[in-house]
Amino acid sequence: MDAAAASRWVELAAARLKRERDHLTQLDAAIGDADHGVNMDRGFDAVLGRLPAVEDQTPGALLTEVGRTIVTVVGGASGPLYGSAFIALGQALDAEAEVGPELLLDGLRAGLAAIQRRGAAVEGDKTIVDAYAPALAAFEAKVVAGGSLQTATEAAAAAAADGVRATVPLRARKGRASYLGPRSVGHQDPGATSTALIFAALAEVFAEDAGGTGQAPG
Ligand code: ADP
Ligand code: MG
Repeated sequence: MDAAAASRWVELAAARLKRERDHLTQLDAAIGDADHGVNMDRGFDAVLGRLPAVEDQTPGALLTEVGRTIVTVVGGASGPLYGSAFIALGQALDAEAEVGPELLLDGLRAGLAAIQRRGAAVEGDKTIVDAYAPALAAFEAKVVAGGSLQTATEAAAAAAADGVRATVPLRARKGRASYLGPRSVGHQDPGATSTALIFAALAEVFAEDAGGTGQAPG
């Protein structure tokens, strides 16, 4: 993954979050305060505005700036969580111009660690972690088996989507939805849903590459 691919990831994530903005907000209306779609869309619009200034930098520097922008622009619980995740991811990628499967694994691991350091959620709490943790595990399994970025990101996206579906029967134990107690059961978590969209965008980058429209998958 070079800077162009990182930039493409952010663009595809922004497009998916915009497309799903009303859906994310509806999910948040059921167990929160109906702002998650608006929050994420506003954040990624700001990120798109910053991209031209950082596009010629390394993937790490670019993604760190994405995180800083999200922290600045997105309020609520999700802004600092996603922001710190992108900052940790970007910093873990160091100054490498080309990020391979192992280094991206390190970066994604750092991103989840940042979310859990800040939000203290574990799997099963009905949060972002319920999509991110299985995505990371699936990514890692493919990398350990020698898989390419295309294979690993595809598996991560599928696992994130499964993780989202698995949030429905859970009772929320973190964030605003936890105030509802047992009434949070039966609803899909908005933050897990946006996380799956971001992993789907990452997979799309390398599926595009494999289709011959970009560079070879790393
Ligand atoms: P707010 O709840 O402040 O309105 P958002 O609506 O933007 O913020 O985001 C809500 C989402 O944030 C939830 O659906 C959940 O996935 C995620 N979230 C909340 N608290 C935590 C936490 N401690 N750790 C991980 N994710 C969390
Ligand atoms: Mg909300």
